[in-house]
Amino acid sequence: MHVLYLFDIDGTLLRADGAGRRAFDRVMLAHHGIAQASHDIQFGGKTDRWLVDEVYQARLHRAARTAEVDAFIADYLVLLDEELQAKPLRVLPDVVACLRWLQQLPNVTLGVATGNVRRGAELKLAQAGLTDMFVFGGWGCDSADRPTLVQRAVERGRDLVPPAQRTNTFPIVVGDTVHDIAAARMAGAHACAVTTGGDSRSTLAAADVVFDGLGELPAWHAAKFPTATPFSIE
Ligand SMILES: [Mg+2]
Repeated sequence: MHVLYLFDIDGTLLRADGAGRRAFDRVMLAHHGIAQASHDIQFGGKTDRWLVDEVYQARLHRAARTAEVDAFIADYLVLLDEELQAKPLRVLPDVVACLRWLQQLPNVTLGVATGNVRRGAELKLAQAGLTDMFVFGGWGCDSADRPTLVQRAVERGRDLVPPAQRTNTFPIVVGDTVHDIAAARMAGAHACAVTTGGDSRSTLAAADVVFDGLGELPAWHAAKFPTATPFSIE
């Protein structure tokens, strides 16, 4: 058995406190002269390209053309970097300890499954000091559709598993929204939810397990896969 973890980023590992939304709004203002264009749009669990299309539908009452989405994302990445420099993101409690503990286990490989396009994910993980924790991923540039990018992440993770174990992999999505849970189901992955993104336990009840923080994950993992060593936060 080889366990593949696919971690969502925003609300699960860290909180960027609106940096993405501010960057989004700055692009809409620059491209279409519309201020605070995302004010009534929920960002959680959605992919970058999905959000561009949703903003276009809400403010311009039409779909975004592919070239417009590409131009939007290119400018968004520049402004996201600026916003993150101006107001650094916060790594959520126990995230580093949890990832370090998982990282030292045999037969466990860590990746990301995020709606951020790859460059956006890299900016956030670099500022969080988490870049080296993950060796594969699925990103918002793989697809606007979250289940599709989760499936790509599972495939990339499986490619890293020794061939003898490849037919016996156990993918686990860890995320903070119903979109993460739905995508996990459609990709055939186990679904762990965390309430650190703001969604409540009852909202996330469709998950296989709900944690109030990633500090709870190691004990769950150790119980589910009993060869693991006990967890302690020093
Ligand atoms: Mg999230």
